[in-house]
Amino acid sequence: MTTQTPASLLDRAEARWTEIGTSQPDLAPAIALQRLLVTRTIHAVDRLYGADPPVVSLEPEQAADKLRAGTPALRGEPVALPVAMLRPLVLRACDDLAAGGAGDVARRVRGCLDEGRIDMGSLLIASFDRNQNAIRIKAVHEGIAPDVLWLAAELAVGPAAYVAQQTLFAPAGAGTHLAITDALAQWPHGYCPACGSWPAFGEDPDRSRQLRCSFCGVGWRLRDPGCTYCGGAPSHLTALTPEPDAAPRAELCSGCGAYLKWLDLPEPTPFELLPVEDLASTPLDVLAVQKGFGRPSLPDLGGPERHPCHVEDPAQ
Ligand SMILES: [Zn+2]
Ligand SMILES: [Zn+2]
Repeated sequence: MTTQTPASLLDRAEARWTEIGTSQPDLAPAIALQRLLVTRTIHAVDRLYGADPPVVSLEPEQAADKLRAGTPALRGEPVALPVAMLRPLVLRACDDLAAGGAGDVARRVRGCLDEGRIDMGSLLIASFDRNQNAIRIKAVHEGIAPDVLWLAAELAVGPAAYVAQQTLFAPAGAGTHLAITDALAQWPHGYCPACGSWPAFGEDPDRSRQLRCSFCGVGWRLRDPGCTYCGGAPSHLTALTPEPDAAPRAELCSGCGAYLKWLDLPEPTPFELLPVEDLASTPLDVLAVQKGFGRPSLPDLGGPERHPCHVEDPAQ
């Protein structure tokens, strides 16, 4: 469990935004939007801790079995999401995205949700399950922007995924279960061992080199030196070094065309502030994209065990 309070996290975020805004003034609109979203995430995590029932009830041994089989621990588990608490977060995310530049595209998504044309509980579960296909199909059927619907749901559900992985991997008042520690140490994949998403970036405090999940915030070590995404050999990787004599800051993979940022941070970033560090390192994204590299779409781990019928349209 995080030892930080909402107030201390907000202070830290504000200090970082001030630094980013000073060094990169063109990011001011992105910072303004992020301030709204991150503030909401901080309060959501605070409210979700100690939720009853827990978001996911999974025994450590079962989780370790799944990890050893290469399956992210939270995948396909029955989920108890507090829909009444999360619904307003989705709607406000739509409002913020509308005000932050998405305009009518985001307002139409909100309108569709307000009219009840998308079942909120099913949408949230599909997001938790990382079922981008179901959400895309539903959005296309409703004539709204799939990316905005996906992002608005993800912003609301991410805090619940974080609390779920913490409950399992780092339970409050107890050490991580030995079976899970062992299975995590053996996890060979570039996708997250809890939810199956790609990392937002790697961070390198004390040379510990860990990847950080872009959705649920888990930190894990990469066992193999090759590409995080496609598993390609290290010879496929090129280091992106923005300043001469500086440490390499990103890896570019010629095999799959994706890049991964490695941020030189003094300590692991709290979950709530991962987007802030992602934004702070925007110049690296710009450089990588200029060189023709991109962030990959979600890994395809096969269909989820559960199909949210209200989100997926049977007529499609
Ligand atoms: Zn994850
Ligand atoms: Zn690759």
